Amino acid sequence: MTTILYIEDNEDNIFVFMRRLSKKGYDVIIAHDGEAGISMARSERPSLILMDLDLPVVDGWEATRLLKASPETSHIPVIAVSAYAMAEDRRRALDAGCDDFISKPVDMKALGGFQREVQHHEAHEIDRLSRIALENLTGSEVLALDRIASLAKKLKDLNSAGVALRAGTQAVRQNRNITV
Ligand code: MN
Repeated sequence: MTTILYIEDNEDNIFVFMRRLSKKGYDVIIAHDGEAGISMARSERPSLILMDLDLPVVDGWEATRLLKASPETSHIPVIAVSAYAMAEDRRRALDAGCDDFISKPVDMKALGGFQREVQHHEAHEIDRLSRIALENLTGSEVLALDRIASLAKKLKDLNSAGVALRAGTQAVRQNRNITV
C-alpha cells in the first residue's frame, strides 16, 4: 500500500485529509510537528509527504530544507499544503525544496492524484534496494554469480555449437546421400 505522510497540526485538516486519502486507497500516517515529521519520514519512508508550513517545533519550510538536505529522504516528494497562497508564498515553499504546492482550502475532490510523485519515489526505492542488495553480497555469493554468468555463456556457446553441428550433419547427409 502506498504510504503518505501528512505533517499537520490542525486536527480538522487531519480528519478530512485522512478520510479523503484513505478512500483513495492511501495509507496515511500523521506527524503533528516538523521534527516528528522528519523522524517519521526517515523511519517510515513514505512515498509522498504533504507538508503544512505553519507548524510547531520545526516549521514546514525548515523541515522541508532538512528533508531535502539528507540523502536518506531527499528523493521523497514534498507537497506543501498551505493557506499562504500568494505567488510569493508559493515561491518561498518551492525555494525551501517543496516539489509542489496545494493551497488551502483544498479541493478535496481533486486531492489524491499523486501517481507521478508516487512513481518517482518507487523507482528510487527499487534502485536503492537493489543497490543495497548488491552491496551486501558476500564474497562467495559474488563468486557464485560470476560462475553462473560463465556457465550461462558456456551454455550459449554449446547451444550455438549444437546448431552448427546439426546444420553440418545435415549438409553432409545431403551431399553423400546418407540415410539413417
Ligand atoms: Mn498549521
